[in-house]
Amino acid sequence: MVSGGISLQGKTVLVILDEVTVTAASYVERVIRLHVIPFSQKIDVLEFVPSNRGKGITLIYKGYTYAHIHSKTRWYCSKKAKGCKARLHTTDEGELVAVGESSHNHPPPTLFRDSDGKVHRL
Ligand SMILES: [Zn+2]
Repeated sequence: MVSGGISLQGKTVLVILDEVTVTAASYVERVIRLHVIPFSQKIDVLEFVPSNRGKGITLIYKGYTYAHIHSKTRWYCSKKAKGCKARLHTTDEGELVAVGESSHNHPPPTLFRDSDGKVHRL
């Protein structure tokens, strides 16, 4: 049995798995996809992280990732090339001004944060 707490603003969701052995794959399926991803969509703070390829910044908002293209204040969903129209508008200081389009045509990515604080897509 494995248990873990997901905490936000003083409230914790306890997740208990009844598996004897937990592998990385079953952890992703049973915990990350079922519990962490839906929860992440309630976190409406903006988070800026270095992009995976080392250049540029990725913005995480409600479990989705965004990239800026021409301007530091206009953010487009990372799946823009796949036709997703979701976008955000921030100030130069990184505060949310407006959600230009909030609906995505795809589920949120599975994000994993390593011990260095870097965020990876699984
Ligand atoms: Zn999208």
